[in-house]
Amino acid sequence: MSVALYPGSFDPITFGHLDIVRRAARVFDRVVVAVLQNTAKTPLMAGDDRADVIRLAVDQELPPDVARRVSIVWFDGLTVEAARHHGADFVVRGLRAVSDFESELQMAHFNRKLAPAIDTVFFMTALEYAYLSSSLVKEIARFGGDVRGMVPAAVADRLEATADRDWSTGPAVG
Ligand code: ADP
Repeated sequence: MSVALYPGSFDPITFGHLDIVRRAARVFDRVVVAVLQNTAKTPLMAGDDRADVIRLAVDQELPPDVARRVSIVWFDGLTVEAARHHGADFVVRGLRAVSDFESELQMAHFNRKLAPAIDTVFFMTALEYAYLSSSLVKEIARFGGDVRGMVPAAVADRLEATADRDWSTGPAVG
């Protein structure tokens, strides 16, 4: 059975990420989405919150025969350790633009050095999601913009529910 680990911050998961999950599931028997718990960036959602939202999004947006082959875990530390732990021989990453390439290439070499048996497989982003990034979504949500075309409903609902709490500058009135 082929298993691929798809690591990332997913803060929050976007349709671009989900598209990579769906396509990876056509290639691998199982896809383990691994949510980085402690990201260097200030996270919008805690690691286990992010994992819960991804589970909901996968179940709501992907066909059942795909969704049941996708598991969601969170991790800290080295990607290759997480891959070993979950029995994955492959690490999946998405490439949006040339700008992604340099750091992804470096990371793939680094991981190969640490764990030669684990290979990194890249999927080119679908054209319609090439502009999408979690940080862009956060920025738009922060200013009350509509992110429904960019993220699964599970994420949009969560962003709306927490918008007042997260972004208000003062105590609620009334
Ligand atoms: P990280 O903080 O590790 O870069 P991200 O959550 O930002 O984590 O991204 C995880 C992976 O998904 C990366 O390989 C990234 O290039 C890829 N990715 C991010 N956005 C998109 C998108 N719109 N289309 C395809 N792949 C994407």
